[in-house]
Amino acid sequence: MLTRRAFLHAAAAFTLAGEPKGSPLRAAAAQYDLVIRGGRVIDPTRRLDNIMDVAIAAGKIADVLPAGSATDAANTFDATGKIVVPGLIDIHTHARSKEMPSICLADGVTSLIDAGSQGVDRIDDVVSVAKSAPNRVRILLNIAKTGILPDGELKDISRVDVAAARRAIDRHRNFIVGVKARVSRSVAGTNDLEAVRRAQAIVEPSRLRVMVHVGDTASPLPEILALLKTGDIVTHVYSPPPHGIFDETGKVLPEVTAARRRGIRFDIGNGRTGHITWDVAEQALRQKFLPDTISSDWTDAGRKDQVFDFPNVLSKFLTLGMPIDQVIERATIQAAHTFPAFGDLGTLRVGSPADISILELRNGEFEFVDNANTPRKGTTKLFAHATVVAGKLVRRPA
Ligand SMILES: [Zn+2]
Repeated sequence: MLTRRAFLHAAAAFTLAGEPKGSPLRAAAAQYDLVIRGGRVIDPTRRLDNIMDVAIAAGKIADVLPAGSATDAANTFDATGKIVVPGLIDIHTHARSKEMPSICLADGVTSLIDAGSQGVDRIDDVVSVAKSAPNRVRILLNIAKTGILPDGELKDISRVDVAAARRAIDRHRNFIVGVKARVSRSVAGTNDLEAVRRAQAIVEPSRLRVMVHVGDTASPLPEILALLKTGDIVTHVYSPPPHGIFDETGKVLPEVTAARRRGIRFDIGNGRTGHITWDVAEQALRQKFLPDTISSDWTDAGRKDQVFDFPNVLSKFLTLGMPIDQVIERATIQAAHTFPAFGDLGTLRVGSPADISILELRNGEFEFVDNANTPRKGTTKLFAHATVVAGKLVRRPA
């Protein structure tokens, strides 16, 4: 355990690491600013699953070494019995208020996407949340200028102003990484295909990504997929019918596997209503149609119901039988590959930003629910324990 004094020291060391090279302060420093000692390090990018030390210097991963061998450290954190993974990346959240990114950080999430909470009208609000966040927050602009409306922001397609959306992207190029189109019938009525066409028109000059929210769409999924390009993302991939990923016999549609082959990515987006059921998830996993990324679709309401936190959402996939390294892969390197803005993340390779999640995998009896509120018992569950972001240790509040 890190003492309060050591914690303050760690914060100081982080500041020192920012000193110019050759500074006398820096010359006197230990080899490493912080060493995460003796945890079970799982890093799918290095095919690592071993008890090791992770050493950090100047905000970067300096070394991943056999446990006990990183000795020259200004500070250490004892991760014995814990799981140490690259910082978790949640590509579908709604971080609408200033406090939310910090809450996610305490849950082990070092990078996240606000997936279309706001459109052109109030995009500056989300950008200011992102700017003040302690973690890396990037944004998908809702193609409707109003952002999310409870009654469905795309039922009136005139809410999509392509030129205004392009200008918003230009103004916030460091934060906006794509656009979001929610095209379920409850959001878009019968405007689903036109909404996706306009989404593509918005990103045409910037070449950013389109994320489409599917499930119970007016049009069959293949018609929506036909409008997507390499790198675009389908969220709520395990939505129940109508117009999910299966044909009438329960097989994954050939258009869905073809879309994956041409680089369309399929994301979970757990959320609370109509986005995932155990049945659909199991049917897909049996056919080896795994998600590319697991994400929470975390909101204020979700914090108290079904979603709770990102480690809870990841634990549902352990309960569904997915091995832990595959679960971690979908919340780290696979998520990093989704957006170029996260391209340096999701790995413990030497020289990468020192974003690290320290988790606890507890054994016991745990209950999880899907969006139909069907309970499912699990025997293991992940809990956030501590997080390192850009080399700085953040403890979970008690
Ligand atoms: Zn969402």
